[in-house]
Amino acid sequence: MIDFQEVINEIYSDLKTTKDKGTVASYIPELEKQSASSFGIYLKHLGGKDYHAGDWDVAFSIQSISKVLALSKAITFENKNLWQRVDVEPSGNPFNHLSLLEQENGIPRNPLINAGAIVIADILVTHLKNPKEDFLNYVREITGDQTIDFNLKVVASEKRTGFNNYAAANLLKAYNNLDNDVEEVLDFYFHQCAIEMSCKQLANAFYLFTHRGECINKTKHLTLNQVKRINAIMLTCGFYDEAGEFAFEVGLPGKSGVGGGIVALLPNDFVIVTWAPGLNEKGNSLIGMQALEQFTTKTKRSIF
Ligand code: GLU
Repeated sequence: MIDFQEVINEIYSDLKTTKDKGTVASYIPELEKQSASSFGIYLKHLGGKDYHAGDWDVAFSIQSISKVLALSKAITFENKNLWQRVDVEPSGNPFNHLSLLEQENGIPRNPLINAGAIVIADILVTHLKNPKEDFLNYVREITGDQTIDFNLKVVASEKRTGFNNYAAANLLKAYNNLDNDVEEVLDFYFHQCAIEMSCKQLANAFYLFTHRGECINKTKHLTLNQVKRINAIMLTCGFYDEAGEFAFEVGLPGKSGVGGGIVALLPNDFVIVTWAPGLNEKGNSLIGMQALEQFTTKTKRSIF
């Protein structure tokens, strides 16, 4: 039997003192206030026990991790039409790259790069009555936690500096791949990215994808087929232009965000979340990736 708490303690103490912790994101000025020395790990095992170390209970900006949750809601509204508007291929490009979008006539490579996530946001704005509130309630419901909220300072910060996202949304609009107004869709998108959650809350939210579409309060939200697709997209597209490296080193589907969080999971087994705000040059948490590589190596648990 593996002693998961011991494994997590080992990883935590090994990496906590590492000198190179990466660089905290500064292109969203509000995120720059995070400390590169924060570090948390949370493991939720389907067997029923949870294990953790460090800053696992501190809420941080989930940023791109929200794209998976947005997709999981959008897929319940438009399972077929959605895939006409967004492809499912890795982009091999940074999250905010635009030239491919132009080359491919306004069809984003996948729902986890910014352009793709903006199309998903558009679908949610179309289908939800009060989009921001309803989406937040969905996240609260699958997490079983009513305290989760937006950080409005992060929203304002991104609105001021999100020129790339404005460019992407305008390009999508020019290619007829955005039904609602650019401003309305981006307002929703910036809010979804500005949700704050702790490692524990994210592990509870992503339980859905490891537990065949059923969330922690036992409500079924997704079919098995939808879960299969979302996990496949996380594996192939969840880490910007480093998805190959993450599969190679860690071997799990997952998603990172520029707030320094990473969620990864092994279907029918566990969800693991790390938070360490210092990023590598590809925009993924430097220590988080190392922690997850150590975890799957030490426990011999990966999809491969
Ligand atoms: N809100 C961020 C952006 O659109 C998300 C980036 C990320 O976490 O990858 O730039």
